[in-house]
Amino acid sequence: MSDHYEKVKFQLQQNASGEAVETEAAAEGEQMSPASVSPVTADVSCAARRDKSRGGGRSQSKGRSKSEGNGRQMNGKQVSDLIPQKKSDPLRVCLICNEQALQIKGTGRTLTGKTAKNGHVESCQRQTNGKCEHHGKEDGRKVAKKRRPVTVDISKAKTSLEALKLSIRQLKWKEFPMGRRAACDIYWHGVSFHDNENIVSGQVNKFPGMIEMLRKINLSRAMRTMQELFPGEYNFYPRSWIMPEEYQLFSTQICLLKDNDSTFKPTFIFKPDSGSQGDGIYLIRDPADLRVISGSQIKQAVVQEYIQKPLLIDKLKFDIRLYVLVRSLEPLEIYIAKEGLSRFCTEPYQEPSQNNLSHVFMHLTNYSLNVHSGNFVHSDSCNTGSKRTFSSVLYRLASKGVDIKKVWSDIIALVIKTVIALVPELKVYYQADIPPGKPGPTCFQILGFDILLMKSMKPVLLEVNANPSMRIEHEQEVSPGVFEYVPSPVDEEVKVGVIRDALRLMDPAQRKQHVVHVSSSIF
Ligand code: ADP
Repeated sequence: MSDHYEKVKFQLQQNASGEAVETEAAAEGEQMSPASVSPVTADVSCAARRDKSRGGGRSQSKGRSKSEGNGRQMNGKQVSDLIPQKKSDPLRVCLICNEQALQIKGTGRTLTGKTAKNGHVESCQRQTNGKCEHHGKEDGRKVAKKRRPVTVDISKAKTSLEALKLSIRQLKWKEFPMGRRAACDIYWHGVSFHDNENIVSGQVNKFPGMIEMLRKINLSRAMRTMQELFPGEYNFYPRSWIMPEEYQLFSTQICLLKDNDSTFKPTFIFKPDSGSQGDGIYLIRDPADLRVISGSQIKQAVVQEYIQKPLLIDKLKFDIRLYVLVRSLEPLEIYIAKEGLSRFCTEPYQEPSQNNLSHVFMHLTNYSLNVHSGNFVHSDSCNTGSKRTFSSVLYRLASKGVDIKKVWSDIIALVIKTVIALVPELKVYYQADIPPGKPGPTCFQILGFDILLMKSMKPVLLEVNANPSMRIEHEQEVSPGVFEYVPSPVDEEVKVGVIRDALRLMDPAQRKQHVVHVSSSIF
């Protein structure tokens, strides 16, 4: 397995006078638009500054200044570099945000990025020629050999148990299915940080407050705050209204738009706040339809502009599930898994009309819904069927001449900006549950980003899942009326890699040394 990583330094700044704020990257002559944040195959380093005095009214947290990453160079990868070349070598992206103050000073905006390449993913500040001065070796795996195995408490893992066990086995670490009296290095929770309240050390795979922050209403609020501050940068999230409190605003805005433009024929998607797997979701064409459907009891929900022209493959709508590891909030470190899943609808897509609004197999890509359609294709191959690897979709698009380097760099920008929007509140939750100076664990978390590609190839964020499914089996009707759980090769391929490499990145011995020698194949 190879370890090709690059760093991108990413700064989002506003200047009161409208002047460009000279960032470190800009000073070095590299200015990048969001679209060119970097088609990276490796680690991305992010430095964003948040002005503590102005944050759009949202809770703020302390920034801490740390030295930046190492030497940089522009990425010169070929399109083929964006696609995993073999099973064990999907590409990976990492973002390390060492400085967490996002300077918001006014109207001028600069968004700059810079790439650098080093031999391994690490936050080690002292390295030369890809070698770490601490070790003088290019491959830290040699050091790891002599260590005692990392211990993982898997007693609360729930539906991720199977994938987790396979990952631990691959790493030759030690699992504790019933928990352990002594402390473990890592605690794997199936749902929330609070699955086990008695942890005072080690690392837990959930952040406090992540579930709350990623509910549809809170995510929409966080995105809206950033859209107001940086409209050009946050245009990847569809316009959304929070119900019931913004029903009147929604209604008035849409009436105005329709009055001004008679060709304006929007569609909206109604999503209950705490819903998942497509539950309670429906499409409408007019604000008045909300009352018709829900009566006067409009639920807590988000109503969102429906993307009418998604990219289709074989006439089918599909979305992308990407896995993102938040390795730390301070400094902010994010790793984006290069491999993910593409989930396909099972009825050919047509643009919404009054006649097809209720066709869920045409409009909603949820696996949990489409699996019940007679057209769902379970495939043993990762490149075909109703659930495929993301890389197989990229291959397909590349073969049709799509600039997948740009698609990927746009996706990376979307992920980075989304996480930046969530960080201030997450820090507040974090400090409430794990106050500085008190014994407690540190946290990391794998998030599931659901992304839709528009026909124009622009990625759009649909939602972020705090608990993306890590099931590696699916229910199948083996004979009429008889259902069984059977292994799902595509889920196993992707999810075991995601968990294994997340664990590898959290290896406590490497964290202690401030060095991560990663032989990961996913991140
Ligand atoms: P859930 O948590 O219930 O899965 P999502 O927000 O992911 O809710 O929406 C379910 C599905 O609906 C998505 O997978 C996607 O196919 C479709 N969808 C959601 N939002 C939009 C949108 N704004 N435009 C087009 N399709 C959407």
